[in-house]
Amino acid sequence: MKTLSRLLVFTLLFAAVQAAEERSLAKLRAVPFTAVTISDSFWQPRQEINRTASIPVNLENLVKSGNISNFELAAKGARTGFQGPVFMDSDVYKALEAASYSLATHPDPILEKRLDEIIAALAAAQQPDGYLNTYFTVKEPDKRWTNLRDWHELYCAGHMFEAAVAHFQATDKRNFLTVATRFADYIDSVFGAGKRMGYPGHPEIELALVKLWRATGEGRYFNLAQFFIENRGIKFFAREHQTPLDSYDGTYWQDDAPICDQHRIQGHAVRACYLLSGATDVAAETGNAELLKMINRVWRNTTERNLYLTGGIGPSAHNEGFTVDYDLPNPTAYQETCATIALAQWNHRLALLYGDAKYADVVERALYNGTLAGVSQDGTRFFYVNPLESRGTHHRQPWFGCACCPPNVARTLAALGGYAYAVSDGALWVNLYMQGEVKTTVSGQPVTLRVTTDYPWDGRVKLAPQVTGPKRFEIRLRIPGWSREASASINGTKVQAAVIEKGYAVLSREWQTGDIVELEIPMPVEKTIANPTVIADRAHIALQRGPLVYCFESVDQKEPLRSIYLPDTSEFDVVKEHGSFGRIVALTGAARVAAEQNWTRRLYQPAPAVREVTVKAIPYYLWDNRAPGPMKVWMPVAAPTPVLQGPESQAEVTVSFANSNSRPAGINDGLEPKNSGEQPPQLCHWWPHKGAEEWVRYSWKQPVSVSGVKVYWFDDTGRGACRLPAAWRIEYLDGGQWKPVRVRGEYAVTLNTWCEVAFDPVSSRALRLVLMLQPEWAAGVHEWKVLETDEE
Ligand SMILES: [Zn+2]
Repeated sequence: MKTLSRLLVFTLLFAAVQAAEERSLAKLRAVPFTAVTISDSFWQPRQEINRTASIPVNLENLVKSGNISNFELAAKGARTGFQGPVFMDSDVYKALEAASYSLATHPDPILEKRLDEIIAALAAAQQPDGYLNTYFTVKEPDKRWTNLRDWHELYCAGHMFEAAVAHFQATDKRNFLTVATRFADYIDSVFGAGKRMGYPGHPEIELALVKLWRATGEGRYFNLAQFFIENRGIKFFAREHQTPLDSYDGTYWQDDAPICDQHRIQGHAVRACYLLSGATDVAAETGNAELLKMINRVWRNTTERNLYLTGGIGPSAHNEGFTVDYDLPNPTAYQETCATIALAQWNHRLALLYGDAKYADVVERALYNGTLAGVSQDGTRFFYVNPLESRGTHHRQPWFGCACCPPNVARTLAALGGYAYAVSDGALWVNLYMQGEVKTTVSGQPVTLRVTTDYPWDGRVKLAPQVTGPKRFEIRLRIPGWSREASASINGTKVQAAVIEKGYAVLSREWQTGDIVELEIPMPVEKTIANPTVIADRAHIALQRGPLVYCFESVDQKEPLRSIYLPDTSEFDVVKEHGSFGRIVALTGAARVAAEQNWTRRLYQPAPAVREVTVKAIPYYLWDNRAPGPMKVWMPVAAPTPVLQGPESQAEVTVSFANSNSRPAGINDGLEPKNSGEQPPQLCHWWPHKGAEEWVRYSWKQPVSVSGVKVYWFDDTGRGACRLPAAWRIEYLDGGQWKPVRVRGEYAVTLNTWCEVAFDPVSSRALRLVLMLQPEWAAGVHEWKVLETDEE
């Protein structure tokens, strides 16, 4: 009887899934990356470095940082020793997902065995009821599900499900999938209609449950995803944290309004795009018209007002997300690598749902620029924050205390081919142009498409379909949104009046092996301007060629980058290079440079002479792989106002202590904060040291004569553990001894303003700012300026 009823349940579930799939609105189905071979000189080397360098580096760092040992602690019932933040498990899952994709295309018994060991460790940590989260099992076993807003349990579970599906599909083994379904079943027993209300503070599980549903056919997983999506925005987190509704602002978690009533992209950028990805998955299956309306409304807001040229989103470090429309600053652009990837994921779903090239345009922009910048050429260093302008102090790091980005890049590159092609009834769609091959079926017929191209360096693409016999179907070629004209020919005959539908050239005929389609997309150098509402980009231009956004790095220029500008008359030539970056296309052109100006004790002076200078731009994704120095995407069209900085800009910075996310170089980067609470792109701080005496030191090659300093303190009350220091003082190096300066006045400690102190002039090669931290609190400094002595 039991078996029979279970069989009945299974049959019903299967029927439900079938029905759901049949009523899916998605026009296209992605061709999986395992059916796509990439053999070009652009992506293929990056995938190889990803496989041989980045994935091993990810796995090594997970051991070093304690992510793996957290599972071992949980397995043996330990209650102490947990390392890292609450979401440590998620980084393991993302790295496992990346490694599984790699296994799917490059079988590797050693890697497969390593994955099995890690999977065994996490299976051992799984609790009898299916729960698995090492933070709670080790540190706070009584606090499960007590803070959905902040504690990332459902987020970690989501990354586990994605990884388990990837591993199952790569290896056919169920060791990981079983852990995932046990956990999913447990979560399903806790949350849902008639059970507990709630949804994750950090979305992710929604899209992952849809993947798990597709892999297993278990309809409850889809229903749970739908539950999390459709309830979102009912201000659950206000209830969870007993926050009065009149003082509750849920925008950070996309919890300020019911999901279908949301109007713009807002809050934390990665959360927003994972949520929108899950919402798109659910809406594509259920056809929820209100949800689809919201998705389209928010998409327009994102792409028309909140998207960086480099394909990233989220300008602010403060909330790792959005501020107001058109706020797209360049040096302080946060543009988290994960957010760019999340945007690509969301737009890929929309591209499949609607078969409209405008979504694949966003995918392309995000992948070729912001995403690829997230990892160094050698695959071992990573960007978390991706500014569009740097004064030379922002560099990729080997790892992060919050290490979400490195494994996210790794999993994206490992499965990259999955973004390139899709099929629908009677059509094969080409969304991205990469040399190689795709094998799929169109209307039940096997089709192979061979692609020969030097994209993105050149816009000529040759496509050769191979079929078992003549077959009528459409080849739909995306005409990139950046192109101004494109043409196609079939077997040498130009296609006249090609049908263009939603950005795709539709080539319909009876194809046979031997047919050749040639697509020609000219790639002139394009000077781009931004909507004037974007204050940061007014009177600036940026260079693009094809899908690539270019940048200027100081290492390529003969003059300081800060004094170079590109007048309207600047024209750029394409230069093919073969060097340390492999084969690339650089751009060179004529720019102007205004002579450096000395404004010390001057109110007026003759306008500086202007000279022509040849400048060079390289693709943005390549920046910070050579000698460190300033970088700009947006260049001024007129002589820039000189930035007046004191001797601190020339100083070498050393600190008494810096943990992995402290950036001492932020202290003299010249970026003035608006207030103490603002989160700068790089911050010099001493967290987690508290109550101690700490220092930061400026050293110069030559003695500097100084008679004052200005300090702007950092204070993240309400978010973090940095407060104003209890006291501070300035010391100078005198004959190998640190001596206090003789102040004229007081050492002020004030929020939201410069604290300036004057002292008797000293001449020294080094100054030290010494802070006494408050008991129980850390401290940080936005900026420390040094005031030169006015010569008498
Ligand atoms: Zn990240």
